[in-house]
Amino acid sequence: MARVHNFSAGPAALPESVLTQIANEMLDYQGCGMSVLEMSHRSSMYQQIIDDAEASLRRLLDIPQNYRVIFLQGGATLQFAGIPMNFMRTGRAGYVVTGNFAKKAWKEAAKYGDAVKLASSEDTDFDRIPALAPVRERASAGDLDYVYICQNNTIFGTMFHELPQCGDAPLFADVSSCFLSQPLDISRYGLVYAGAQKNAGAAGVTVIIVRDDLLEDGPAFAQTPQYMDLRLQAQKGSMLNTPNTFGIYVCGKVFRWVEETGGLEAMAQRNWAKANLLYDLLDNSQIFHGTAQKDSRSIANVTFRTDSDELNAQFVAGAHERGIENIKGHRLVGGMRASVYNAVTMEDVEALAAYMHEFEAEHAPSPRSL
Ligand SMILES: *Cc1c(COP(=O)(O)O)cnc(C)c1O
Repeated sequence: MARVHNFSAGPAALPESVLTQIANEMLDYQGCGMSVLEMSHRSSMYQQIIDDAEASLRRLLDIPQNYRVIFLQGGATLQFAGIPMNFMRTGRAGYVVTGNFAKKAWKEAAKYGDAVKLASSEDTDFDRIPALAPVRERASAGDLDYVYICQNNTIFGTMFHELPQCGDAPLFADVSSCFLSQPLDISRYGLVYAGAQKNAGAAGVTVIIVRDDLLEDGPAFAQTPQYMDLRLQAQKGSMLNTPNTFGIYVCGKVFRWVEETGGLEAMAQRNWAKANLLYDLLDNSQIFHGTAQKDSRSIANVTFRTDSDELNAQFVAGAHERGIENIKGHRLVGGMRASVYNAVTMEDVEALAAYMHEFEAEHAPSPRSL
């Protein structure tokens, strides 16, 4: 068996030990004689699985008691609509547009009310997080139901290094691609949500953590489908209907793995060490350039390119020959992207860095004097 160096942006690498455990439990989950795939979601056996997953996540993030954890389907994308459907009570919310997913969320919200663009970095192709003072100023008017950000911009390789001040409006964040990469102070948010396939498990699960007072009045729209009604989903313990039973089981395994490997502080240290190995290389390279501005760089998605599409393609092809996979940049930006999520090891990153050095030695305009 040969496993590759997988830098996929999502669905992405999972810890090998988690995959092994899942394989070992596939036919007979802990002596019950069936697979988790075959188990009723109403069984006590399954209830234990989802309860354990939530408990592990609560320990990891130190989630305050007044927050609810919900596991839904539909991806992060369904919540682009779900959030306004639940929380656009006066009909106006603020959006910080820092990339493709933030823009999609903003456009989706505009179907339900007044989605105010508070700040954007589109003028420089989303290569940075914009200045946040305008967010504070606009939020201080006090007429926003919430302020929405996409905390880590998976496609562009940028991330918020500080949070905007939102006055009385709760802060909502799509944390899909930085979830469990580093500590997250849940008490600073009204709601965070993450598609699990980036860093927390398998595709098909979205984890939502929401402050319970925000759920009190129910959804903002009478037409909100019951599946999207977060108050109802919280009441039903994510079991309004059949949840993604297997996906939640995988999430639980990943949460436990993060706990067992040292928790979020340790994860953050390892992740910055991996990302900085690549950023340092980019800063000292004659042919590779990082595409995100330095003070906005992501902990998870390292985006870079050469000046030539042909060289980029050559680099990606050569990577494949060396077992380095999924480093082609998103079609919107081109170039390359190495996603260095939790399950990507330092050895994986070192293999990529070695190949980058090799490629540079071959293609740099003049030999480097080291
Ligand atoms: C991947 C991603 C999405 C979209 O997720 P789906 O689960 O495919 O809907 C949204 N936001 C961010 C930040 C992402 O990384």
